[in-house]
Amino acid sequence: MGASRKVPVYCYQCVAGPDLLKVEVENGVATRVESNYDISGEHPGGGRVCVKAYGLVQKTYNPNRIRQPMKRTNPKKGRDQDPGFVPIGWDEALDIVGARLREIRSRGLLNEEGVPRLATTTGGGGTPVQYMGTFPAFMAAWGPIDQGYGAGQGVKCYHSEHLYGELWHRAFIVSPDTPYVNYIINCGNNVEASGGVVGIWREADARVRGAKRVQVEPHLSITGALSAQWVPIRPKTDAAFLFGLIHRIVHERDWREVCDLPFLKHRTSSPYLVGPNGWYLREPDSGKPLIWDLSDARAKPYDAPDLRDPALDGEYELAGEEHGPDDERIVHERARVRPAFRAMLDHMRGYTPDWAAAECDVPAETIRGIADEYRRTPAWARRSRSRARRCRSGRSR
Ligand code: SF4
Repeated sequence: MGASRKVPVYCYQCVAGPDLLKVEVENGVATRVESNYDISGEHPGGGRVCVKAYGLVQKTYNPNRIRQPMKRTNPKKGRDQDPGFVPIGWDEALDIVGARLREIRSRGLLNEEGVPRLATTTGGGGTPVQYMGTFPAFMAAWGPIDQGYGAGQGVKCYHSEHLYGELWHRAFIVSPDTPYVNYIINCGNNVEASGGVVGIWREADARVRGAKRVQVEPHLSITGALSAQWVPIRPKTDAAFLFGLIHRIVHERDWREVCDLPFLKHRTSSPYLVGPNGWYLREPDSGKPLIWDLSDARAKPYDAPDLRDPALDGEYELAGEEHGPDDERIVHERARVRPAFRAMLDHMRGYTPDWAAAECDVPAETIRGIADEYRRTPAWARRSRSRARRCRSGRSR
């Protein structure tokens, strides 16, 4: 056996990384990987890699791996079509791409609708530009490029979790704040299989300190098996289940008593007034969304220094502007408007747990029970944080 050495690197095979590892190399050949505990205290995963990383050696030397450009020879698309990929040399590949790019430049970088003619995709959604060599510089030099395809680096990611995160939270949120929250309703995310070292560890710490996880998914995954409750559901009906939860909280209970009103009033867009066309009503000069202040019965911009008691409910008649797409401005001399929270209440009125049960096959009483438990559970872990820390340090030894 020749000289062997261990090379410290890191794994970024998935977006849950990077995680630390060492690669054992014998005579220039990687033979195995192992966790790297040398600087475990500096890494939230304690220097560990997950089981997926142990397959990197096989992946690297797989005889069927792609080692050169591949050209599709069958232009027909379809499930029954063999794409007919054949290996080609780099010169031929660069000639093909170069000819296409020259053709695009000769026709103009934008098409008749003003949309870029060139689109790029770079595979995994989490691929940082640092890993792309000179490709980002090439794209910057080229001009307008549609990067919204597939990889997530563009204006929209292909992960539906991001889309829904934006719809519900107005933020790019996809992960529960496991070090702090006490109740997690997890719709389908198989986090115990895909959360990576840090994600799985944090979920485990949360459960140790008493957080409850309810797993909502059609099949019993590993995550479902490790949850306090598994809720089988008909595929693709999670939204109905969630609407049933919301209805239970805001309609079957008194939302004024069960909701965190100071938070809704001062930390969210719930009080923003919504005009008759569904857009925020805005102050004409500043374009800022308006809020009805109950303290002096006047409408004010959301950031007015004298805003004291934003209304979450009611209907008001006001002047203002709605700003639609493509700079459309709808001017109102007088319009009936309501806070966004009131609009949400009106929208949710029909989505009862019984309606949801018929849609998603989750019994109405289960939906009510989860909503009530979620509502009763204190939102944030407080004294239990130090316990979680003890658990963590115990396991990282
Ligand atoms: S979670 Fe596993 S596969 Fe993903 S980066 Fe970390 S070690 Fe690699």
